[in-house]
Amino acid sequence: MKKYNLPVILLRGIVLLPQNTLKLEFDAKNTDNNVIDMSLLFHDNYILVVSEYDNKKLPKIGVLSKIENNLVLPNGNTRVDIKGLRRVNIIEFLNLNKLKEPLESIVSEIKIEKVANEEIIINKLVKEIKSYVKNIPYISNSMVSLIEKEKSLDKFTDIVVPTLISNKERVLEYLNTTLPLIRGEMLLKDIYQEKEMFQIERDIDMKIRKEMDDSQKEYLLKEKIKLLKEELGESSTKDSEITKIKKRIEKIACPKKVKERLNFELYRYETVSNMSPEVNVIRDYIEWLLDLPWNIFTEDNNDLKSVKTSLDQSHYGLEDVKQRIIEYLAVKQLSKNNNSPIICLVGPPGVGKTSLAFSIANAMKRNFVKISVSGIKDESEILGHRKTYVGASPGRIITSLKKAKSSNPLFLIDEIDKMSHDYNNPVNSLLSVLDPEQNQYFSDNYIEEDFDLSHVLFILTANYIEDIPEALKDRLEIINISGYTEFEKLDIATHHLLPKILKENGLKENFVHISDDIILKIIRNYTKEAGVRELKRQLDKIVRKIITQIVLNNIKINKINITEKVLEKYLGKEKYKFNTKTKAKIGVVNGLAYTVYGGDILPIEVNYFKGKGNLILTGSLGDVMKESASIALSYLKSNYQYYNIDYNQLINNDIHIHVPEGAIKKDGPSAGIALTLAILSALTKTKISNTLALTGEITLRGQVLAIGGLKEKTIGALRSGIKTIIIPSENTKDLEELPPEVKDNINFIKVKNFKEIYKVIKNA
Ligand code: ADP
Repeated sequence: MKKYNLPVILLRGIVLLPQNTLKLEFDAKNTDNNVIDMSLLFHDNYILVVSEYDNKKLPKIGVLSKIENNLVLPNGNTRVDIKGLRRVNIIEFLNLNKLKEPLESIVSEIKIEKVANEEIIINKLVKEIKSYVKNIPYISNSMVSLIEKEKSLDKFTDIVVPTLISNKERVLEYLNTTLPLIRGEMLLKDIYQEKEMFQIERDIDMKIRKEMDDSQKEYLLKEKIKLLKEELGESSTKDSEITKIKKRIEKIACPKKVKERLNFELYRYETVSNMSPEVNVIRDYIEWLLDLPWNIFTEDNNDLKSVKTSLDQSHYGLEDVKQRIIEYLAVKQLSKNNNSPIICLVGPPGVGKTSLAFSIANAMKRNFVKISVSGIKDESEILGHRKTYVGASPGRIITSLKKAKSSNPLFLIDEIDKMSHDYNNPVNSLLSVLDPEQNQYFSDNYIEEDFDLSHVLFILTANYIEDIPEALKDRLEIINISGYTEFEKLDIATHHLLPKILKENGLKENFVHISDDIILKIIRNYTKEAGVRELKRQLDKIVRKIITQIVLNNIKINKINITEKVLEKYLGKEKYKFNTKTKAKIGVVNGLAYTVYGGDILPIEVNYFKGKGNLILTGSLGDVMKESASIALSYLKSNYQYYNIDYNQLINNDIHIHVPEGAIKKDGPSAGIALTLAILSALTKTKISNTLALTGEITLRGQVLAIGGLKEKTIGALRSGIKTIIIPSENTKDLEELPPEVKDNINFIKVKNFKEIYKVIKNA
């Protein structure tokens, strides 16, 4: 084996492997400079590099290297590039310096045997290295492309080791291992180990990250949402809203269950994203819950005397109505039981039902709310829509309670007779509202939580008692308010309406003077109603016109008197004219009707002409009234002799009955005797006075049966200038109830049978 001499460079802290280049700079004073010179001068640039020299345990393997670049820097230092070529065995170190370090060596070559399956091993290594370096960013691709081309395992290992292996001791082991196959195995093992380490590190990293995720995810997300919201300029509003809601929830005196619900909904509100469509639904719901007057009560004025005084001040007359209301309140106060029936004020429009209820609330010092159930078809209008509906909201009961701002308001439910009859559900839901057994736990579909309605004082109103749903009627205490007579209206106008209107317009009480005659004229010729609503409207109109004139013309005036001439100027031509002249006509008879506008006369016209004994009816008559007309005709046919009717006339003619004002539907049996008399008058050519009116049901035997609404009818009759009214004897008891004006101005004739009517007419 060939031996040769070489200068020696000793390395500390680094290891040079063959195939690698080392850049070194030598101090000008350093003796190592001499070694470089020796190499350049005597050894063809060859030199032995020994890593980690230890003089106790002399290294056996060194690297035969070549100095490739040699540069003397301006400061006298020398820079060299030394490229490692191959491993050599160190046989001996020579020429030791003061530090006992060698400057020269004797080395011998190492024979490299051909490695079996070298290519397979290299391929395997390349594959592993490639998959490993994928995850290591600091390893450059050039190293990979370099090894892909390398066919010698000996060189291959030396190229990759310094890059892949960071541990210096391990690199030294590679240096001292001369067999390439063993270095290959070492390398494979190291790569596996590194890969495993890398995987473990990654797992740990992931685990740590996940733990952090779980604990901090919510926080991070919240922070992120907050940032997004800040970007959108939303954050502060929602946050401050949440704080406000929290404070309100703390203060609200609602049941525990509702409070829990509120907290739950607030949590949902906090967590839901602003982008979600749910956010508004939740907030609206929270606001509804917060706005309801849970456990808020106003203190009642239980002094019924002062309640009565207050009602007297606000409403003229209605003595029995007020008396019944006071009695009702007294019983309610004393018994403290909630099972008492519910007041229902029944009467035509404008008679003061609503205003009376308002006055009761005022007198009792309760808050007042009102709903109308007219035309309600769907129970959801009362009970609300479930939240799942888009745009859902509570029903009218809950909506009104929010407005009421207390749990014990006076709650007026208007027009219960106008609720849709075709559908039963709204009636049932109204029952659940009114029923004291159920209404403690009133549940609106939207609100979902029970609200106690048992402290609410419900008052209902209706125009027609007949149209109130039966199931409801059972629970009601009906208080009738019939229409007012002209003189009652006069009193209401002078003592209530006019002073109220003047006050509302900021005028002194006696600024406008309207004499009784003029007011009566307004009542008679400009209104036709049972109540005083139209009358109030006309008075309003007068006062408005006066004010306009004063302002426009800058008039200074202390008092103004309304004369007949002024009246026409302000209100226009008379709308209703009354035929005050007494006239008698054949085939025309006044019946009496009770309409939504109160009582009124019902003129009936009868004609006959050649035909076959048919009955023709016109004028919007209901079934019951049509039957009455048939009964009337049958009765007269069967009693034609008694009434001196020509029988041929009856069978050879058609009889036409017409009730004018066809636009208004008329029904009921009470026109029976008026229809009979109208047919009789036509057939016998008997004149009937236009100041006579009749009301009463007729049977086939000519019996006259009792009717309802006598008070309203007679008030209407008086208004129309009727002087005599024929009524069924059975209604005699009702005469007591009639207003004095009616009693004083109208003559009542009581009859049991139609024959008595005939006598009256004959003797007239
Ligand atoms: P309703 O509810 O029966 O239709 P309102 O209560 O609306 O009638 O009454 C209409 C107007 O008539 C109101 O301004 C009311 O104050 C007035 N009014 C009705 N009756 C009286 C009365 N007896 N005394 C004083 N004002 C009355």
